[in-house]
Amino acid sequence: MSAAAGCPLCEGPGGRVVLQAPRWRLVHAQEAGLPAFYRVVWQDHVREFSDLPRDDRIACLDVVTTVEEAMLRHLHPAKVNLATLGNMVPHLHWHVIARFDWDSHFPGPAWGPAQRVADPARVRVIEAALPGLERELAARLRPSP
Ligand SMILES: [Zn+2]
Repeated sequence: MSAAAGCPLCEGPGGRVVLQAPRWRLVHAQEAGLPAFYRVVWQDHVREFSDLPRDDRIACLDVVTTVEEAMLRHLHPAKVNLATLGNMVPHLHWHVIARFDWDSHFPGPAWGPAQRVADPARVRVIEAALPGLERELAARLRPSP
């Protein structure tokens, strides 16, 4: 296990922990106006995706893909956004964000300027669907050593 001093993803979870596996964790980012914003965070402090061995790259993208599939089924978003940036926090993490045409930033990226205040009633509908989404993810991504 490698960690870097001062790294927020080494020193903290980076959101509400949904699943914790030996090599990765899934967290809910709790970003206002974006109710289904999750992150797959690699446990070790790894800077670039290509720094991972091939088996770990495959395992990581399998988690990302499983989250996307479950979002499509449970939340019916306009789009799912996948991104790994790391400009601010250079610790490998994938953003998996269900996007809706009414969300705070649509159609722009989640990191750009907000376009509107998301309708709280629509946000609540999505939030109400998250426990079902997360139960399915727990079943499908059952953390294994
Ligand atoms: Zn780190």
